[in-house]
Amino acid sequence: MTGPDRRRPVIALWNVAKDYAAGENVVHALRRVSLVVEPGDFVAIMGASGSGKSTLMNVIGCLDVPTSGYYWLDGVDVRTLDEAALAVVRSRKIGFVFQAFNLIPRTTALANVELPLVYAGVHRAERRDRAMAALAAVGLAGRELHLPSALSGGQQQRVAIARALVTNPALLLADEPTGNLDSSSQADVMALFSQVSQLGRTIVLITHEHDVAQYAKRIVRVRDGEIVEDVRVVPVGQPPPRHLPGYDPTVAVRVPPTGAVTAT
Ligand code: ADP
Ligand code: MG
Repeated sequence: MTGPDRRRPVIALWNVAKDYAAGENVVHALRRVSLVVEPGDFVAIMGASGSGKSTLMNVIGCLDVPTSGYYWLDGVDVRTLDEAALAVVRSRKIGFVFQAFNLIPRTTALANVELPLVYAGVHRAERRDRAMAALAAVGLAGRELHLPSALSGGQQQRVAIARALVTNPALLLADEPTGNLDSSSQADVMALFSQVSQLGRTIVLITHEHDVAQYAKRIVRVRDGEIVEDVRVVPVGQPPPRHLPGYDPTVAVRVPPTGAVTAT
């Protein structure tokens, strides 16, 4: 298996609707949503509570299927897939980052990052190498054997980002990833997303915080289940707005526990 195909959209939603039955009534959580996300884009999805962000995230993440419309994820028509096939697509194509980190307690950072590779059937030595490299890439070299409880919130979220990226997914999908963090850890984690974007990864990040959306190349606003605004801040092929000046991806990059990102 190679990495994501650079020629086709990672996400193509066309006229997607999602209805929920609520007693006698129907809630139109999403109405006619169309959205194309190209490889290398960094999209922030914003909207007030109840606007449909989580529903959209669940559809994009193949955690839920649309009531109508079309969805291709990295070229796969997800409408045709049953529950088991959706689970496989999810684990192969998407790296998830959640607000609550969702690390396994009493399990080292390294074992947490190795876990998706266990599910993918990667053998032990390669698993270890890839998980070590992923932790180094998020600035946690030397902390591989720490338990989540021994790490700060920002560091735990960095472990979760390493876990999301270790499978080399087509899409990094984050739901309020800084919602549980103080402002300095928020800046630290967003600097890491910026760096990940600069390496060419495709990111969709759901947030209601303006400060967080400032890191994205494109800002999509949702209201009452519809996309009401779609603003391109930076072209897909360029670095995100808050990037390392003169950054060279061939040079190792370290993210210190707090503060600015520095190249080493
Ligand atoms: P957001 O994440 O932006 O707060 P949601 O996607 O969670 O918005 O919700 C959008 C709308 O759909 C809301 O009106 C919500 O009450 C409704 N909704 C979401 N999930 C369900 C569900 N499982 N059953 C019924 N209504 C739902
Ligand atoms: Mg929500």
